[in-house]
Amino acid sequence: MLLESMTSAEVQTALTEGRRDVVVPCGAVEQHGRHLPLDVDAVHAERLAKEVAERLGTALVAPTIRVGVSPHHMSFPGTISLQSATFEAVYTDYCRSLAAHGFRTILCFSAHGGNFAPLAEMAERLDERVGPECRVIVFSDLHGLVEVWRSAVVDAGGDPDHVGGHADIAESSVYSYLRPGAVRTDQLARGYTGPVDDEVLQRLFTGGIRALSDTGVMGDPHGLSDAIGELCVQRVADMIAAHFTDRMQAGPRES
Ligand SMILES: [Zn+2]
Repeated sequence: MLLESMTSAEVQTALTEGRRDVVVPCGAVEQHGRHLPLDVDAVHAERLAKEVAERLGTALVAPTIRVGVSPHHMSFPGTISLQSATFEAVYTDYCRSLAAHGFRTILCFSAHGGNFAPLAEMAERLDERVGPECRVIVFSDLHGLVEVWRSAVVDAGGDPDHVGGHADIAESSVYSYLRPGAVRTDQLARGYTGPVDDEVLQRLFTGGIRALSDTGVMGDPHGLSDAIGELCVQRVADMIAAHFTDRMQAGPRES
């Protein structure tokens, strides 16, 4: 299922057998508070891609685009950020390469909030660039993702007020579940815990995260658990897979 772990001949066989859908995940390498490493979104994206591909049945998984658009986290050391134009160029080259080999549906999503708007904005252009035989479908519902986190946190016994969208109880739980022992649990600190609406997101993406939170956290990681993390991964994968299935069934060029 993982394209980069297959041989070229195995990819050819998969294509010949009609496996022509491919998931292209993207993440980020950016600060996630004092308690999480920089690769949270990259690790999360890779796992979600596998889960989504399993739900779709025959889709393959392209290598995760690990670095994303993170200018709002640059005031914290270690963050690496692509310009939107670079990010679009990378996605374009991934999609064109995959289309050239005969993939017919390219399914793109992000595990990093800062990539959602650039992805939505480039979706139509990507779709044009891969030619008429192929189409690009993008998942870009950031509010939907945060709402799914909130309901998963409630159902797994956590405090929904600790959900804030970045290094919070949901994302910290996801990392704890995916990388056992890697959360610095002696370094947990809360961040911005007010409502996360469009205005707050606007402040985050234009003013940088320090304008909202000294700790680099949106929400509060306290109460994190592997059970919450597992449920968040499963439900977000369900949501993304359902979106892709809907759009694939909606017919050609309906991305
Ligand atoms: Zn993150």
